[in-house]
Amino acid sequence: MPGFELFSDLERKEVHDVLDNGVLMRYGFEGMRNGHWKAKELENELENQLQVKHAQLVSSGTAAVSVALASAGIGSGDEVIMPTFTFVASFEAIMMLGAIPVLVDIDDTLTLDPEKVKEAITSKTKAIMPVHMCGSMADLDALKVICNAHNLILIEDSSQATGATYKNKPLGSIGDLGCLSLDFVKIITAGEGGAVLTNNEKFYKHADHYSDHGHDHVGNDRGAETHPFLGYNFRISELHAAVGLAQLRRLNEFVQIQKKNYTILREALSQIPEVTFRRVPEGGVESYSFLNFFLPDLEIARKVSSAFKDNGVDACWNYYDNSWHYIREWHHLKNIKSLYPISEEVKKGLEYLQTKTFDQSDHYISRNISCLIKMSWTEKEVRERASKMVDVINSFLL
Ligand SMILES: *Cc1c(COP(=O)(O)O)cnc(C)c1O
Repeated sequence: MPGFELFSDLERKEVHDVLDNGVLMRYGFEGMRNGHWKAKELENELENQLQVKHAQLVSSGTAAVSVALASAGIGSGDEVIMPTFTFVASFEAIMMLGAIPVLVDIDDTLTLDPEKVKEAITSKTKAIMPVHMCGSMADLDALKVICNAHNLILIEDSSQATGATYKNKPLGSIGDLGCLSLDFVKIITAGEGGAVLTNNEKFYKHADHYSDHGHDHVGNDRGAETHPFLGYNFRISELHAAVGLAQLRRLNEFVQIQKKNYTILREALSQIPEVTFRRVPEGGVESYSFLNFFLPDLEIARKVSSAFKDNGVDACWNYYDNSWHYIREWHHLKNIKSLYPISEEVKKGLEYLQTKTFDQSDHYISRNISCLIKMSWTEKEVRERASKMVDVINSFLL
């Protein structure tokens, strides 16, 4: 997955354009910038390629989630439904606004289970935020029906599945708002960066102003702009946008390379009857950033994952014991270890995390192995990896 594996003269050229005129700021400085507007250009190309009316670049994927929520008017005391399997960023971005993360079980898609989402809705629920983990997606049609029935905002986090599609539409373009990360390890990287995608004029305007101190960006004079509302600084720099621009132009190429490597590994593992694969919702096409499969139980999954490491099969994880991606080990969040006081309302809203168990999520995550698909492997390396994986798995099944 990481786009940095294939950095080339394309990225270098875009960065040099920026350094040659010295304007690292995405707004203003018209006289100096020699016509280079890398952030603007990247936004335009994201809009075209991801088939969405508006893209607003921000400083990270975490910022994108916070900006998306804020743009939809979600804040203090509001409940946002998110999955148990994600990256801690989902939880953080909700907390940053004083809203309450409501964690809901995943199913065999490794993303939000729509049935469990229904059970979690209360009068305080404002949004449902599926996270398209590890290159594949949530059942967006089912979630849309729920959102429509309860008047909720649908926010897609497609940080790990940029380049995947659902019913021929790019992920991130389907909900009311979509979020991307361009951090260092994502399929297309800017070093750091993120984007908010939306077809909603009002949400776009909010995202544009909110991510730059509330500036309205009307006219060319930053000093003369007005500030319709409170904002913060979540801007991306021209340097980061320059790298992201070159990478976006290679997204389709990257997905095709991943698909080729993924297919070789998947065909090899398919020969083992005990191995099953994560379900991709009908109409979904993965970005092939990861190959996810299930083993018969946690004990075998742990043994396989550790034997993979010992045998040089790197970048494969069983997330059950992972403290970044799965609720089970999020002790600092379950116990609200915060540097500053958290409101009583949010504390109360999070009390459920002390006692609630997520048996269904445990059932899938405990048996799952997620293997990152790299783009820099040669075909020989992929084939060797495939046969090693088969041997390791078989050694624990026989
Ligand atoms: C990487 C990631 C983020 C956060 O992105 P950053 O750019 O690292 O802040 C959010 N959600 C998911 C699912 C991610 O994988």
